[in-house]
Amino acid sequence: MSTLCWLRRDLRLHDNQALSAALSEGETHLAFVFDTHILSKLQDKKDRRITFILDSLKEIEATLQKKGTSLHVLYGRPEEEIPKLASLLKASTVYVNRDYEPYAKERDKKVEQKLKALKIKFEQFKDAVFFEKREVLTNTGGLYKVFTPYKNKWLESFENTGKIISDFECPLKHLAKFENPENVLNKDWLKEIGFKPNPPLLPGGTQAAKKRLKKFTEELDQYAEMRNFPALEGTSGLSVYIRFGNISIRDMLRVATSSNSEGARVWLSELIWRDFYQMILDAYPHVTKGSFKREYDQIKYLGKEEDFLAWCQGETGYPIVDAAMRRLNETGLMHNRLRMVVASFLTKILLVDWRKGEAYFAEKLLDYDLAANNGGWQWSSSSGCDAQPYFRIFNPYTQSEKFDSEGKFIKKWVPELAHLGKKEIHRPDTLLNPQYFAPIVSYELNRQRCLAMYAVVAKQGKKTPIS
Ligand SMILES: Cc1cc2nc3c(=O)[nH]c(=O)nc-3n(C[C@H](O)[C@H](O)[C@H](O)COP(=O)(O)OP(=O)(O)OC[C@H]3O[C@@H](n4cnc5c(N)ncnc54)[C@H](O)[C@@H]3O)c2cc1C
Repeated sequence: MSTLCWLRRDLRLHDNQALSAALSEGETHLAFVFDTHILSKLQDKKDRRITFILDSLKEIEATLQKKGTSLHVLYGRPEEEIPKLASLLKASTVYVNRDYEPYAKERDKKVEQKLKALKIKFEQFKDAVFFEKREVLTNTGGLYKVFTPYKNKWLESFENTGKIISDFECPLKHLAKFENPENVLNKDWLKEIGFKPNPPLLPGGTQAAKKRLKKFTEELDQYAEMRNFPALEGTSGLSVYIRFGNISIRDMLRVATSSNSEGARVWLSELIWRDFYQMILDAYPHVTKGSFKREYDQIKYLGKEEDFLAWCQGETGYPIVDAAMRRLNETGLMHNRLRMVVASFLTKILLVDWRKGEAYFAEKLLDYDLAANNGGWQWSSSSGCDAQPYFRIFNPYTQSEKFDSEGKFIKKWVPELAHLGKKEIHRPDTLLNPQYFAPIVSYELNRQRCLAMYAVVAKQGKKTPIS
């Protein structure tokens, strides 16, 4: 009997729970589906993420060919393609790693039903996160809605497992052997699926991911001091690799727990944020449509479309915001500190609905991940679980002075300000002849308007506790 392992956001051949289970069961075929439902939503036909995925698949294919086999690369709706392939291969079971996004859950349900009708089993595994679903619970058996107690319980549960981080072995000698001349290495796949190549700054694939992880391992102990400065490479830069599963969360956790330094502890905490938001998305799928704290949906955002467009283009007259947005537009990358700054600026100073910013990030970010992005936007707009209080509003000027004090990041991405000194660069509007966009709104004025806009929630909050 053969088995079929369907790769989705786990584009790797090592430490992969579904693949490991499939290989232990029988001769395994591997498949990936370019899902037309997802592709049809991508406006930009030069979307770098498609090149990233294709490069990851090419790396997998090259390894498979050395083992005398090949990847089945399909194009269409998974609920049609996967049962068709499984049936053709006479597979007993289809193996996948669990995906917590609402669309993916719905899709997997349909695939499972179709397979059931064909008498083929569908097995799902936990792989993308360390703890999932109800594995981290409050003492009364509920789900956490606030991060710090969740993190403490996560760490306690990790301690209780004996801090064992499994490594799911994938002996590739058990792969089914076959030749496929129609493989991704030979075909002009991008063109066939209607996209154009656009190599991202970070190349796809496990080799690149492991190289980056190795480099970061040497820098881990400095993470706590370095992580907030966008001009430095103080963070791992691994988010895109974990998003597409070129490396496993266990690969990252092994590094995070390899040192007792403050840097290692803070980095581990970031990985726990990732688990937290995946759990929230899984348990509260309404967050994809509206606020986690539902009363925040009553806010009437006052922002103007033209201000939103200026934000998108990096032309707000606020140098730190403009630099961050221009880098995003050009590379698909944005530092975490700046994600918080621009998200807070859009919602609380430009008074634009957080869902518009969330959607723009979804279109542009190389590491776009529904759970983390939604969590980040709802945190910034104060509508989410364990969000910052609504009356805390990031001041883009002081953020700029604190985290880009020399103006190095601004100078790189807003070259028209490169001639300014480190004092003026954060506020060119205070100069006599600034030669730069005037701020599209006044920070002070709109800060007050924001507090008034959120007042509806403050009134509600007195009646109903918010978390
Ligand atoms: C408005 C907003 C939107 C965001 N959108 C995304 C997104 O679409 N995809 C995404 O992966 N992250 C998102 N984040 C979280 C964070 O900004 C990125 O994970 C981080 O910048 C990635 O860089 P890194 O790999 O160098 O991170 P590191 O600092 O090295 O952290 C290691 C890993 O931990 C995870 N992580 C770190 N911070 C967070 C966080 N706050 N929430 C969840 N996971 C985290 C990521 O997988 C990251 O790769 C968002 C944050 C905000 C405020």
